Amino acid sequence: MTGRYYQTTPIYYVNDAPHVGTAYATVMADVLARWHRLVGDETFYLTGTDEHGLKILRAAELNGVSVAEWTDRTSARFVEAWKALEISNDDFLRTTEPRHYETVQKFMQAIYDNGYLYKGTYEGWYCVSCEVYYGQEELIGENLCPLHERPVEWFVEENWFFALSRFEERLLDFYEQHKDAIYPEARGNEALGIIRSGLRDISITRTSIDWGVPVPWDDGHVFYVWYDALVNYLSGIDYGRDEARFEKWWPAVHHLLAKDIVRFHCVWWPAMCMAAGIDPPRRWLITGYLLIGGKKMGKTAFNQVDPVELASDVGVEGLRHYLVRDFPLGNDGEFTYENLIERYNADLANNLGNLLARVATVVGSKCAGTGPPTQAREDSKLAAVAEEAVAAAAEAWASFAPHEALEATWRLIRAANAELEAVAPWKLEPGPAVDAVLGDALEVLRLVAVLVSPVLIRSAGVIWHRLGIGGSPDAPGNAGPDGVLAWGGYKGGTKVVKGEPLFPRRST
Ligand SMILES: [Zn+2]
Repeated sequence: MTGRYYQTTPIYYVNDAPHVGTAYATVMADVLARWHRLVGDETFYLTGTDEHGLKILRAAELNGVSVAEWTDRTSARFVEAWKALEISNDDFLRTTEPRHYETVQKFMQAIYDNGYLYKGTYEGWYCVSCEVYYGQEELIGENLCPLHERPVEWFVEENWFFALSRFEERLLDFYEQHKDAIYPEARGNEALGIIRSGLRDISITRTSIDWGVPVPWDDGHVFYVWYDALVNYLSGIDYGRDEARFEKWWPAVHHLLAKDIVRFHCVWWPAMCMAAGIDPPRRWLITGYLLIGGKKMGKTAFNQVDPVELASDVGVEGLRHYLVRDFPLGNDGEFTYENLIERYNADLANNLGNLLARVATVVGSKCAGTGPPTQAREDSKLAAVAEEAVAAAAEAWASFAPHEALEATWRLIRAANAELEAVAPWKLEPGPAVDAVLGDALEVLRLVAVLVSPVLIRSAGVIWHRLGIGGSPDAPGNAGPDGVLAWGGYKGGTKVVKGEPLFPRRST
């Protein structure tokens, strides 16, 4: 059963540099997109940068450059970071691009034409860092933003308002009919709680700044940065520009985002879609926070870790594997360098790397470097383990639990290592017993290369290549119904190459 899969990340705000927290979201979205390509789904993965709003203007001023120069420079850092982390995004959208302006204006015009926008005066406490108005009751201390713990400012302006309050019932109905729309479920309950507590209309334009997308029907107004940012998910698939392309990808979208922006994504955004006359998104995947010393990573906490620096130190694959394996989608997790190295050594050096090195060495010494064939499933001690692991991994990938998919995959790797130790082919004379255990171990490595290919992109290819198999482990459809994950795919007779250690041990 293959289909279409549209993956997004939150677009990153260019007042800031990429850090391990943003890398986590981008890597999670990446492995999900890669898995869907692997099962044969037609897949589109969009990420990008959010470049409007007061915060960006002030960041440019603070750094003594024009806002255009600032956004070019910062946006490029994200592009480079994602390239370094081998992110497979199909597009990178900047909200300062003309195609985005066109989509935002057409989308908001549709909401206006449908009668859900009206003009009013807005005054209130505004946090420049959040780009959000707060009610007095939401502030902490001496009029401080509850998120940033910094003073908010009193703003008065004439705004266009979105009649969000008219969507309470429709949103509740939608979530009632789509109970799996928000993952994990607890976040869905949070969104329902927000809706049930009553929705106020929200101001969606600003006249106080001009760094934004102009409102097409009212000169001097620009769209509030959140409204323009959310619409990026439509700009990337050409809403208002290419109807066929838009309809191809919408609403098959999976929005990945962190739990602090549930209100915007799971309440405002589907209501805006309804108001514009399009379906709400198919799914929201809500991540927790990566914590450092118990605090959320971020600019104001001074605890940012540069993912590119980290990857050049511990390797891209060590970093990707740690992020996917140790931070289940939805949970908060404590990020430490020691745990990263420990995970690398345990899984990659000691288990997967060791299995590959052992098998290649013994095939070299006992089988003259040519791999023996896999045993028939009824004769093999590993076939049943492999079938269980493949099924569990596929199920976990499909249910947004890549950490469980890796857990299942490593069960198989450990079983193959245990079987090798039990038989100890390196002590035996060449013959059927040696061939049997090595043929099965080669088959396990073949299956593992496919299963880890969304995470360990290069190493999966290296394993495949050393086994002498043609093609590549991450070919589209390899994990699909006509794929290569059935036991017995390795037929033997290939030259098995030893090569350098794939994952040399690291010390902390
Ligand atoms: Zn704030």
